[in-house]
Amino acid sequence: MLIQIESNKKTGPIVGIDLGTTNSLVAIVEGGKPRVLKSSDGKSLIPSVVSFADEKQPVVGLEAKRNKVADAQHTVFSVKRLLGCGFEDLKPILESLPYTLVQDPEAGLVKIQIGDRAYTAIEISALILREVKKRAEEALGCSVTRAVITVPAYFNDSQRQATRTAGRLAGLDVLRIVNEPTAASLAYGLDKKRQGLIAVYDLGGGTFDVSILKLQDGIFEVLATRGDTQLGGDDLDQTMVRVAAQEILQSFGLDIYAEVHIHSSLLESAESVKIALSTQAEAVLELKLDTRIYRRVWTQAEFEALARPILERTREPCLSALKDAGLQASDLSDVVLVGGPSRLKIVQEIARSIFGKAPNTSVHPDEVVAEGAAIQADILAGNNQDLLLLDVVPLSLGLETYGGLMATLIHRNTRIPTVAREVFTTFVENQTGVDIHVFQGERDRVDENRSLARFKLRGIQPAPAGIPRVEVTFLIDADGILQVAAKDLKTGQEQSVEVRPSHGLTDSEVEKMLASGLENVKADEIYKNLVEARNKAEPVIRAVEKNWDQAKLLLAPDELEEVRDKLDILRQVMQGQKVEAILDATSDLNRSTVRLAELLIRDSLKEMR
Ligand code: AMP
Repeated sequence: MLIQIESNKKTGPIVGIDLGTTNSLVAIVEGGKPRVLKSSDGKSLIPSVVSFADEKQPVVGLEAKRNKVADAQHTVFSVKRLLGCGFEDLKPILESLPYTLVQDPEAGLVKIQIGDRAYTAIEISALILREVKKRAEEALGCSVTRAVITVPAYFNDSQRQATRTAGRLAGLDVLRIVNEPTAASLAYGLDKKRQGLIAVYDLGGGTFDVSILKLQDGIFEVLATRGDTQLGGDDLDQTMVRVAAQEILQSFGLDIYAEVHIHSSLLESAESVKIALSTQAEAVLELKLDTRIYRRVWTQAEFEALARPILERTREPCLSALKDAGLQASDLSDVVLVGGPSRLKIVQEIARSIFGKAPNTSVHPDEVVAEGAAIQADILAGNNQDLLLLDVVPLSLGLETYGGLMATLIHRNTRIPTVAREVFTTFVENQTGVDIHVFQGERDRVDENRSLARFKLRGIQPAPAGIPRVEVTFLIDADGILQVAAKDLKTGQEQSVEVRPSHGLTDSEVEKMLASGLENVKADEIYKNLVEARNKAEPVIRAVEKNWDQAKLLLAPDELEEVRDKLDILRQVMQGQKVEAILDATSDLNRSTVRLAELLIRDSLKEMR
């Protein structure tokens, strides 16, 4: 029996991944249509949760989510809110996270303390991406090494770099970073063959983005983007938690923030109440506190009164994005709502009041971003050539000049990829080196913007102040990631850096992690072999099953008995994880069916005559 197992090692599929604050998804384009990949039990969402009950074998996804309350000290969620951030950035949300954050001042990184080990948000994200990769491999039956990953449009350079590094640590070649609202518009526009100006209002678990796009003849052009990387559905849960915390303190004298378990449990219950209120007028929040029970009925009206000021924070970015695009709300043909919280009436109402028209809620709020990522992956794979995505930089980029002022080289909403050059000079007599300090942000003073990187250009020929000419080049690639070069035009001396984010990992740190992650790589290899062994076995089983009636007629009883035995053995080992056993049992079954195959061929030849 000859069985051909398809092998496409060189190219392999490119998947689209939505790495979300709350859940992650993976999708692929098949037959021109995006499809979200599901687990064997039909689930498409992979909770972005990692639990370290056993430090060597962290669990990710649904199983980890179950530990959120039961093992709160060892379970990390909403890690996307920490990605590429420094301690200062996180101060406003520190209290709301039940896990412990520590500062690594040397690396400028925030780490998550689990037992006696501290993990960076990049490592945790890599574990989530590894699980996503595994889901894709299970669903597609082949190894997956290339991906497009989405990020909030308003992610800065550090956050984008951190996402790319996480992909690398997970064994994925990240071919493109795509902005979430842009991805959503791709899926929305592709499906409906839409034309016109649209706003994508994307409120996720931890981030808010709004993008204004022009869709015309397959060209998706982002005109402007704004957002807030610390605003999302999580904040709605937190506000209910604060109310409950106060009431619990008053009634029971218990500070829930000091009780990790109760805090986690309360967060879970608050999220459930919020979700319930998207479809019902009332929901009950019940929380077990040792022997006592805290119980509170939330009405939709009460919840909305609390949620409104938080959601109102989306208004200013929307109006600014319209202004940046040079448009009025009335110019828009559609307002598309994306993200889990967009199911809430209050979110829809606020979007309507901002844009003056009823938002379109036709897209699947959870799946549309992953679908768009898959469409972009399909374009990169050389298909769908009639689609073109033109995206922009979300924040201005520049460098520090004398007096701590920001000289902007690339303004926000500039189309990417892009390059900008400017010539600077020295301020001090006979200066032989200049500090190049790169910043991102909209403020005139650099200390109010985000420091991205600094490096020194040396070897400038001594000359009076104002004479040397230093040319600085900023290059932004299609992922929105920055490279900076500086050149002394007199000597030709040049220095160039891929911007090392102030809150990211250096290349050598990544290499070290990759090396120390060899055990995981080994685990991946074993898993890949298991998938391949199962793929070899399945067609053999199917072929025997298909010809079973013929076999009963053609084979002697002892021959039939042997085939049945070998088939049973193979079916049994397929339930397990032992690669060698599956391969051996497949060969045995193959051998036991040689005579059957001969007889079948003989019969079919007879029929042909
Ligand atoms: P996303 O990042 O798009 O997956 O959105 C995750 C956020 O959506 C979390 O804060 C969830 O609690 C929230 N969410 C999911 N479903 C609902 C729902 N039906 N109503 C309100 N919020 C929801």
